[in-house]
Amino acid sequence: MKPEHDARFRRIAEDFLERPGGDYAELLRRGRVSSPEGADPEAWRAQIRAQARADKIRVITLRDGDRAIAARHREIPEDQELAELSRELGRGEVLRGLAQRARTLGHEISRWLRHDTESIAICPRCGFRIYARFDAAAPVIDGEALDDACPRWFAE
Ligand SMILES: [Zn+2]
Repeated sequence: MKPEHDARFRRIAEDFLERPGGDYAELLRRGRVSSPEGADPEAWRAQIRAQARADKIRVITLRDGDRAIAARHREIPEDQELAELSRELGRGEVLRGLAQRARTLGHEISRWLRHDTESIAICPRCGFRIYARFDAAAPVIDGEALDDACPRWFAE
């Protein structure tokens, strides 16, 4: 992985793990946040919603298995809705393709951590990583998990 992508990967992962301003601050900064490991997702949702209500900020919260996700509800101008939707679909398509490519190398890529235009993922078995950025016409992609086979593939 290129040094600048490595630096971004670490920064995104550290921000996520440390959450210096708490989950609500993360939501405001990032536009999206998911409940931490071990938190009661319903209590977490209620707390985020209460804070957002107090600030008169519109949020959407939803359940994703044993986690909850909160996202800011952004007003998108009508003429940009389709472009936005198609960008998001394209991004999802690219990420699915990257996960698939890593899986053929034996890695386990089951979820992505998103930070604005960037997404990162890690194979929990070997720690190999993927970095993707979507702020240009062509996505920037990098990571050991896309080029090298999972060293723990046959270990289990
Ligand atoms: Zn792996």
